[in-house]
Amino acid sequence: MTDLAQDLAAFVTSAPSPYHAVAEGVRRLTAAGFTEQQETSPWDGAPGGRYLVRDGTLLAWFVPEGAPAGTPMRIFAAHTDSPTLKVKPRPDVGSGGWRQVAVEVYGGALWNSWLDRDLGLAGRLALYDGSTVLVDVHRPLLRVPQLAIHLDRQVNQGLKLDAQEHLLPIWGLGAPVEGDLVEFLAGEVDVDPSEVAAHDLVVHDVAPPARLGQDEELLAAPRLDNLASVHAGLGALLAAADDAAGVIPVFVGFDHEEIGSGSATGAAGPLLETVLTRLAGGFDARGAAFAGSRCLSVDVTHAAHPNYLGHHDPTHRSVPNGGPALKVNANQRYATDAPGAAAWQRACREAGVPTQLFVGRNTVPCGTTVGPIIATRLGIRTVDVGIPVLSMHSARELCGVHDPGHLAAAATAFLTDPL
Ligand code: ZN
Repeated sequence: MTDLAQDLAAFVTSAPSPYHAVAEGVRRLTAAGFTEQQETSPWDGAPGGRYLVRDGTLLAWFVPEGAPAGTPMRIFAAHTDSPTLKVKPRPDVGSGGWRQVAVEVYGGALWNSWLDRDLGLAGRLALYDGSTVLVDVHRPLLRVPQLAIHLDRQVNQGLKLDAQEHLLPIWGLGAPVEGDLVEFLAGEVDVDPSEVAAHDLVVHDVAPPARLGQDEELLAAPRLDNLASVHAGLGALLAAADDAAGVIPVFVGFDHEEIGSGSATGAAGPLLETVLTRLAGGFDARGAAFAGSRCLSVDVTHAAHPNYLGHHDPTHRSVPNGGPALKVNANQRYATDAPGAAAWQRACREAGVPTQLFVGRNTVPCGTTVGPIIATRLGIRTVDVGIPVLSMHSARELCGVHDPGHLAAAATAFLTDPL
């Protein structure tokens, strides 16, 4: 189980942006014999493993021998993006003798967690020839410096940050020069800077993941929300490929969950529906296929915080290493219903994995994720689950080292469940 936590740490490090998460997923799928299905090509319905990429979103599936049109699917859905700071189109700014990078906040980040860290920069450069190039500066390059306490004696009564004024990273001294950052990044990947037409770049903490606690039973790492789930889902799909009969196991990692999923590659867009319709064998076959299908929506959940226990429901809270939690919300912020919950419990029993329950405190609104969106768009029964973490949406989060293995094992059983 802890080997899996070790591999998760490597996965997180290799995936500082959604595009990198997709590239690492493709690398792992290809090594296991999966081949690419281009969106623009005729559908290849032959038995075997396939994957499909669109920007920061990755889909993959395994068609067993003899699966007819309309075969039901078992879908694992997660997201590849995480809250961060995203570089603006004209990044070269500065003041007071410092060169800075213009950024805006991506998603519901805990802004304070980005202060005083050694930050790298990663994403993609879009060239005039229509191609894109991945770039990852995985060394200390940037820092969002906090104001010294001597200059704001009240700061410990409540840190106030203005996203326009106070979150700009520095990356050196001197006067800003237009084109500097792109020129630097183009140099990192041996591209002619004059051929770079645009970019999608985010900052990331370069401190490596670490085992933590007296017994090292915890893992501190960036982007556990939601690369911990993406990693478990890819592992589960590869394990399910050996075992699938009568159902088609599917993995999807969406971009843009942290900003509401409304995009061409997000869960609220048409991509999953289009792929599953083609996978089902066309529009006629998909009605039966979808009716017999189930989706496991996997996103991290809140571990009970020892310093803020009053923010949790006393009988529906979870702790790290107690297994992934089943997430329930009467108002369908999580899509779980009783038959879906039973399918999850069956998968955990089959895999011999412990599971917990998460229901929010009635006075604290809970989050949501791709599950309810998939259920609404496709009418496929969906169950929301996830491993417990502390510090969700911080630049560095914390989970149990055993839960990634628990999640992968339970997800494998879910993806092969013929019932
Ligand atoms: Zn998430």
